[in-house]
Amino acid sequence: MNRRKFLAFLGSSGVVSALASVRVAEAAPHVFPYNENSFGVLHDTTRCIGCRRCEAACQAVNNLPMPEKPFTDLEVTNERRRVTAKAWTVVNKYEVNGQPFFRKLQCFHCNDPACAAACFTKCYTKLPDGAVVYDGSQCVGCRYCMVACPFNVPGFQYNLAWDPLVLKCTFCEPLLKQGKLPACVSACPVDAITFGRRSDLIRVARRRFDDHPGKYMNYIYGEHDAGGTAWMVLAPAAGANPGPVDNPDTASKEFKQLGLDTHLGNQPMAELTYGALGAVPMIVAFWPVLFGGAYAITKRREAIAKASVEEAAKSAKDDITAAMDAAIRKIEETEGQAAADRARRAMTEALKARESQDRQGEAHNG
Ligand code: SF4
Ligand code: SF4
Ligand code: SF4
Repeated sequence: MNRRKFLAFLGSSGVVSALASVRVAEAAPHVFPYNENSFGVLHDTTRCIGCRRCEAACQAVNNLPMPEKPFTDLEVTNERRRVTAKAWTVVNKYEVNGQPFFRKLQCFHCNDPACAAACFTKCYTKLPDGAVVYDGSQCVGCRYCMVACPFNVPGFQYNLAWDPLVLKCTFCEPLLKQGKLPACVSACPVDAITFGRRSDLIRVARRRFDDHPGKYMNYIYGEHDAGGTAWMVLAPAAGANPGPVDNPDTASKEFKQLGLDTHLGNQPMAELTYGALGAVPMIVAFWPVLFGGAYAITKRREAIAKASVEEAAKSAKDDITAAMDAAIRKIEETEGQAAADRARRAMTEALKARESQDRQGEAHNG
C-alpha cells in the first residue's frame, strides 16, 4: 500500500471521521493533578547490587513471559537493555567514576506525564496515589505516547498482529490499592528501592546526604527533572563531599554515567509535548492519523504485506519530520528559543528511540 493508496483508504474507509469522533484534547495548557501525598520510590544506586530480583518479581506479578536467559544470569546487566512490553523493568550496570553501579529502569510515573498529554484517546491517567496507568480499551496504536515519553518507557506489543497494546510498569497499582508494596520493592534484598510518600522520600534522600558525606551526589534525580517524577534516583559521588547540588548540570557527570538524561529541565514534559502539538492544530488533527492511528486500524482490518508496511512507515516518518519542524517553529515563536531547543532535543531523542523500538519490534516479528 503506497502513501496515495493509504490516504485513499483513509478517505474511503471512514477512518478520518472515526478518528474525528475520538476524544481529541483541546489545545490548552495541560496540567495533571499532582497530589502532594502521592507515593514514590527512591532508587539508591549506591545500594543496588544488580541481583535482578526486582526484575523477576515484576515478571511474575504481571504474568509477563519469562526471558530467554534466566534472572540468575547477571551477565545480562552488562548490556544497555531497555524496558519493553515484555519486560517492564530492567537493571543495567554502569561505570560511574570508574566503579560499577547498577540502575533499575522502569516508568518514572511522572508528576505531569508526557505520555498522557500526548495520548489523543486519553488512555493514560495520573492517579492520586502517584501511579500513571494505561487503559488500552481506546488505544488506536498510534504510539505517540512512546514518542513523547522522555524516558523511552512505553513498549509496544509488536508480536501481536491484532490489537497490539502499549505496555509499561503500572507501579503495581493493583497492589497499591490493597495497601501492599510494589512487587519489585518487596523483592529487593538490600532496600535499594524504597517506597513511601514522595515528599517523605525526598527527606529520606537528604538525610542520607547528611549522614554519609561524600557518598552521594547531593542531587535527587526526579525531584524536579521533567517536572518531577514519582520514582527518583540517587547517584554515587566520587568520594569527596560534593556539597549541595541544586541543578543537574552540576551533578550531570554521575547521573549521565548512570544513563540518565540530565537535560530534561524542570518544566513538565507534558507542557512541552502538549505545547508542541496544541500549538499547531493541524498536527493535532493529522499527526495521529498519518503517524499511526489509522495505520494501526488498517493493520487490524487487513493483513498488510511487509514491504507495504515499510513503505507506509517511511511516509509516516516524512510526515512526522515535517510536523515536528512546524511545531518547533511555533514553540520558538511563542515560548522562545530555549523551549524550542528543549522540545527539539526531546522529540529527536524520542523519535530515535521509537525507531530503535520499531527495529526491535521487526526483529521480534522475524
Ligand atoms: S512520560 Fe514516560 S516515564 Fe513518564 S509516566 Fe509516562 S511512560 Fe512513565
Ligand atoms: S512497580 Fe510493579 S510493575 Fe512497576 S517495575 Fe515494580 S513490580 Fe514491575
Ligand atoms: S532487587 Fe534491589 S538490589 Fe537487586 S537489582 Fe533490583 S533494585 Fe538492585
